[in-house]
Amino acid sequence: MVEWREMIAKIQDINLCAENDRMIWKLELSGRFSVKSVYKIMLSGGEKDERAIFFWMVWKDRLQTVEQLIIGKWNGVAECKLCDQLETRDHLLLCCSIARQFGVG
Ligand SMILES: [Zn+2]
Repeated sequence: MVEWREMIAKIQDINLCAENDRMIWKLELSGRFSVKSVYKIMLSGGEKDERAIFFWMVWKDRLQTVEQLIIGKWNGVAECKLCDQLETRDHLLLCCSIARQFGVG
């Protein structure tokens, strides 16, 4: 929770605009993701900031949400454990009204 609150503090001043979002991978000069750049950082001692890994997982939609588990043939309940909406990455991080009350979403 401490790390989550630190992350929220860092991103709360980000202003959103009407332009399309654009991802920039800082490990490549081109700004485009490559497995090679991840492999290189791993060989050099690994990523020191675990939050960067979390952001990467969010970006690539690799969080273990129910939506992702169902894609992997999981047969559990699809609804968010906090409300009755489908549990997706965006729901958990941005939309879940219950999670937002706890400063999680
Ligand atoms: Zn929810």
